[in-house]
Amino acid sequence: MNWIKQEGKIFWPSEDMKKKAWVSDESYYEEGKDPEKFWAKRAEELDWKEKWTKIYEQGKDPGEFKWFLGGKINASHNALDRHLKDKGDKVALMWVPEVPGEGVKLTYRQLHEKVSRFAGSLKKLGVQKGDRVSIYLPMIPEVIISMLACARIGAIHSVCFSAFSGESLKDRIVDAEAKILITADGYYRKGKPINLKESADIGAEGTNLQNVIVVQHTKTKVNFNKKDIWFHDLLEQGNPTEPEFVESNEPLFILYTSGTTGKPKGVIHDTGGYLTQAYWTTKLDFDLHDEDIFWCTADVGWVTGHTYGCYGPLSLGATLFMFEGAPNYPDEGRWWEEIEKNKITVFYTAPTAIRMFMKFGDEWPKKHNLESLRILGTVGEPINEEAWMWYLNVIGGGRCPVIDTWWQTETGGTLINSLPGIGPFIPTVAGRCFPGTHLMIVDESGSEVEKGRTGYLVQKPPFAPGMLRGVWKNPKKYFESYWKRFPGLYDSSDGAMIREDGTIRLTGRVDDVMKVAGHRLSTAELENAIDEHPLVREAAIVPKPHDIKGEVPVAFIILKDPSKGNEDLKKDIVKHVDKTIGPTARPSEIYFVDDVPKTRSGKIMRRILRGLVKGDKNLGNITTLMNPEVVEKLKEIVH
Ligand code: ATP
Ligand code: MG
Repeated sequence: MNWIKQEGKIFWPSEDMKKKAWVSDESYYEEGKDPEKFWAKRAEELDWKEKWTKIYEQGKDPGEFKWFLGGKINASHNALDRHLKDKGDKVALMWVPEVPGEGVKLTYRQLHEKVSRFAGSLKKLGVQKGDRVSIYLPMIPEVIISMLACARIGAIHSVCFSAFSGESLKDRIVDAEAKILITADGYYRKGKPINLKESADIGAEGTNLQNVIVVQHTKTKVNFNKKDIWFHDLLEQGNPTEPEFVESNEPLFILYTSGTTGKPKGVIHDTGGYLTQAYWTTKLDFDLHDEDIFWCTADVGWVTGHTYGCYGPLSLGATLFMFEGAPNYPDEGRWWEEIEKNKITVFYTAPTAIRMFMKFGDEWPKKHNLESLRILGTVGEPINEEAWMWYLNVIGGGRCPVIDTWWQTETGGTLINSLPGIGPFIPTVAGRCFPGTHLMIVDESGSEVEKGRTGYLVQKPPFAPGMLRGVWKNPKKYFESYWKRFPGLYDSSDGAMIREDGTIRLTGRVDDVMKVAGHRLSTAELENAIDEHPLVREAAIVPKPHDIKGEVPVAFIILKDPSKGNEDLKKDIVKHVDKTIGPTARPSEIYFVDDVPKTRSGKIMRRILRGLVKGDKNLGNITTLMNPEVVEKLKEIVH
C-alpha cells in the first residue's frame, strides 16, 4: 500500500492514508483555534477520577499557568488499569534483548500486575506522594515498570540515562534529593555485559539515598551494600496497590535536559496536562491504531523515551516495541531485522541515527522486508534533505510519510509537525503547529516577523498542556531560561521561519546564529550546505569573533575518507559554499577533524567548539558528552 503521493518536492497523503487516518481534514486545526475548548475535549479521552473545575489558568508570571485545575488523575491508571477490561490480553510491551535470546512479551494484564506489586513495595519502603525516585536503568522492561510504579503512588521519577557516568548520576540524585535509586547489575553493549552497578555505587555514594533497588539483568557479580535490595524480591513480595489519584498539576516526573547549551536543567512536568498532550500527539502524529506496533528508538533517558516510549502509547492501549542494545550489533542490519521480524508499523528515530545508517550503506536495509512500515518519524535536530530522502526511499520504500517532529524536553510532547492524513511532508520542513497550540516567529524586540524571515521561535498563551511547569528547585533559572527574553511568551531558544504555506522550518538554536558583516546566518544552514559536498561526512560550524565583520564562521569537518583532507579540498569546499549560500557564509578557517563533541543523543555540542575557537580556558560542563576525549584533541588542533 502506498501511503503518500508526490508533487515535485512535496509529498501528500494518499487516498488510502486519508481514509485510514484519525484526521484527514482541517477540522482539528479549526477546532484548535480555541485551545481551551480543544484541549478540554481531548482530555476527556483520558480517565479522570474527578473532573477539573477550571480548564486553564494563567498566573501573574508568564510561567505560572495551570491546566485542568482540580482534576484528579493517575498516569499509571491511564496507561494500564483502564485497558484491562477490553485489552487485558493485548501485548503492551514487546521487549527484545540485545544478546540473542528470548524476548519478553507482557500483556496489559501482566504489566499491570507487575507495576501494581512493585508500587506496593515502594510504598512499603516509605516512598510517599511527592518523593523523588531516581531511575538509572537500561532499556529493559523494568524501567517501564519502575516509572509506572512511581506514577502509581504519586512519586516523582527522575530517569538518568544509563550510559551517563556515576558522577552525572550523583549530580542528578543530589539535585532531585532522591530517596530511592533503581538501577541494575548491568546491561549489554555490543554483546558485552557492562557493569552498571559500579557507576550506580559512585552515584549513590555520599548522597541521602535511603535504598538502592537493583535489577538482576546480566547476572554480573556486583557489590551488594547495606542499602541494596533486589528488584525481583520486591516484585515478589509487593502487595498489589491501587493508584493514587493526584491533582492534575502535581508533578509526574523530573527530567534533566541534554545539556547541549549549558548545565542540564531539571525540567518538571505535571500529570494531567502532560498526559493529554502525550496521548493526543501519539495518536495523531503517528496515526496510531489498535493494530499498530510502535517502535520509538529513543532511550528512556530522553524525553522522547518518556512520552513516545512509555506514556503516550500505553495510555492509548497500543503495543510498544522496546529494544536493548546497539543498532549495529551483531551487524549493521540489526534494526531492520527487528522491524521485519516484529512487523513494526510505526518507527520513530533521530536524524543522527538516520545519518549513521546511511553511512553503513543501503545493502543492510535492503536485506530485509520493511513493508510492514506505514509511518516514519524523526526528532532531535533539523534533518537535512539528503537524510530525509534516504529515510523516505530506502527505509520507507517511497511509501511512508516522514513526520519530522519538533519539540523539546520542556514541551513534553511534539508541537510542530505534519499530520499523516493531512501533510504536506517536505524535506527540511517540520510542518504546522499542533492543533490547539500557537507558535510564532519574532524578532529581537518580540514583534512577529513576516513570513519567510528567520527569527526566534516562541509560544503564545495558552501554553500547550504538556509544557514544563518549572525547573526543579530553581525558579530563577526557570524564569531566566524561558520567560525573560520575550515578556508573556515562551522562549524556545530555537530559530525558525514560517513559510508562505504556513509550515515551519527550524534553523537551529538561536545561540547558533551568527552575524557576519550584518547578515544573520544559521549554523544549520551552513552545515547542511557543507554536508552536501560529496567528500564530507559531517560539518560543525561555529562563529569566531572578528574585528571588522563582527563574526565569521569556522568549520570543523569530518571527511568520509580522512586521508583526502588537504588545501585543495578546503578551496573546493569554500567554492561550494559560495555557490550554495554565498560568499558571506565562507568559513574563515576549516579544520579537518576525526570527531566533534557530541551529546549522548548525538547532537553536536557547539558551545564547546565556540569556546575553543574563542580560546576560552573554561569550556563549561561536559558531563553529558559522549566523547569527552575529543576535546583535548581539538584543543591541540585549534591552538
Ligand atoms: P539543553 O536544553 O540542555 O541545551 P537540548 O536542547 O539538546 O539540551 P532536548 O530537549 O533534548 O535538549 O532537545 C531539544 C532541542 O532539539 C530543540 O530545542 C531543538 O534545538 C532540537 N530539535 C528537536 N527536534 C527537532 C526537529 N524536528 N527539528 C529541528 N530541531 C529539533
Ligand atoms: Mg534545549
